[in-house]
Amino acid sequence: MGRQIESKCKLCRREGVKLFLKGTRCFGAKCAIEKRNFAPGQHGKARTKLSDYGVQLREKQKMKKFYSVLERQFRKNFAEASRMKGVTGNNLVQLMERRLDNTIYRLMWSLSRGEGRQMVRHKKIFVNGVLVNVPSYLVKIGDQITLRNDESTEKRVRQTLEKRQDQTVPAWLEMNAEKLIGKIVRVPEESEAGLPVEVQQIIELYSK
Ligand code: SF4
Repeated sequence: MGRQIESKCKLCRREGVKLFLKGTRCFGAKCAIEKRNFAPGQHGKARTKLSDYGVQLREKQKMKKFYSVLERQFRKNFAEASRMKGVTGNNLVQLMERRLDNTIYRLMWSLSRGEGRQMVRHKKIFVNGVLVNVPSYLVKIGDQITLRNDESTEKRVRQTLEKRQDQTVPAWLEMNAEKLIGKIVRVPEESEAGLPVEVQQIIELYSK
């Protein structure tokens, strides 16, 4: 995954929703959406009526930013979601949720998906005892996620758990906070993702 260059809060302001890109700040009063919920720039406050295509495009952008993935990866996931059995929209959300960087975030081991991705890239994460340094790696039912056996990583994760103590791990995951072991118990459902996106608009966009 490439980096998002634009300021993270500006990305949220452009979409008009919280995309939770900055860790604890996203949950407090300092969140830019709480303070300035209008698009950045000189004409940010001007309301523009979007065409149907414009709405669909914005929903796609929102979803890509929420999971911090670039167009190429997103299209690949969409193609895979279309091939899978079941409803394409649900499949797409499921694929994005099963990304290893997102899984780390959902386990509460990182403050943001970006930090989760960094932990994976920096070789801090093992799946079933094997080092995995690919953020887009898709976890599956039964997988066990553990940390590299190093004191500083463990300390950082415990601090993160403390900071996120008022949030909960979704039911598709189990997390042993004492041993710091995560387990995938079932596939994630769209309703659990808390996604501020109308996925159907994306399906319509790609169906053209
Ligand atoms: Fe910034 Fe997080 Fe608020 Fe988005 S949700 S505007 S990234 S603080």
